[in-house]
Amino acid sequence: MRHFFDFHVAVALVAVLGLQNVHGERNCCAILSKALGHEVVYTLSSNVTGFRGSYWSLQEAEINPSCYVKAASTDDVSIAASILSNIHGYSEQANDCKFAIKGGGHTPWAGAANIEGGVTIDLSAMNTVSVSSDRATTSVGAGANWFSVYSYLDTLNLAVVGGRVATVGVGGLTLGGGISFYSGRFGLVCDNVVNYEVVLPHGKIVNANANSHPDLFLALKGGSNNFGIVTRFDFKTFA
Ligand SMILES: Cc1cc2nc3c(=O)[nH]c(=O)nc-3n(C[C@H](O)[C@H](O)[C@H](O)COP(=O)(O)OP(=O)(O)OC[C@H]3O[C@@H](n4cnc5c(N)ncnc54)[C@H](O)[C@@H]3O)c2cc1C
Repeated sequence: MRHFFDFHVAVALVAVLGLQNVHGERNCCAILSKALGHEVVYTLSSNVTGFRGSYWSLQEAEINPSCYVKAASTDDVSIAASILSNIHGYSEQANDCKFAIKGGGHTPWAGAANIEGGVTIDLSAMNTVSVSSDRATTSVGAGANWFSVYSYLDTLNLAVVGGRVATVGVGGLTLGGGISFYSGRFGLVCDNVVNYEVVLPHGKIVNANANSHPDLFLALKGGSNNFGIVTRFDFKTFA
């Protein structure tokens, strides 16, 4: 398992190894690729149709990031966040460490979940859904969409308060508040989150709930991408 990257490790990658891209420049994508591997860090040219097709609006799809980080685990997100927040001053291209976070890609306007010349962290591979043994809580990877949540819960005769259109991402909808068909009965989607697993800006992984990091727990109920990268949502579940 990969371990949390601290500032010194991130700096060492650049300063000691002197990572450079093919043009001889130091840049964030080269550093991320070295840390996470080519299977995680892609350039747009390697799969342009797939990247563009994963956005709901053309405005978002037409943006050109320098690379995508297709995170497969919370550790991948932690490493990426650590590098992106710590390495900034070591890149020779001022803006290339700026980043965006992509959940289900359904925001219509350009720049919400994609970034020109920067790094787009794509969470779509983190899409597991599981139910606790007492059936009270459903844990959802931040890259899942509502179709995968409902498909799984239907087989168990269970439900959560979630979005109304299956293809929308769990991440963006829940962090924005979230209106559900069940909202009249149970409130907003965010009201039904009992725990967030979050990667903080410097890469630390925490759980935010009523007892642990309660301020962050509150802030994430409508706080969108301003407080960290959520990697898992735990939802109240009902029959
Ligand atoms: C067809 C359609 C139907 C819709 N139906 C509903 C509905 O029923 N109810 C409702 O409330 N809204 C609805 N919406 C609005 C929708 O909730 C928002 O557009 C939402 O932002 C989409 O989330 P996403 O993850 O798909 O999008 P993205 O564009 O990927 O993400 C939205 C924002 O959240 C941030 N973000 C996403 N995941 C994370 C994460 N894990 N950690 C930190 N930041 C993150 C992104 O950086 C981005 O700024 C709908 C939109 C569309 C296009």
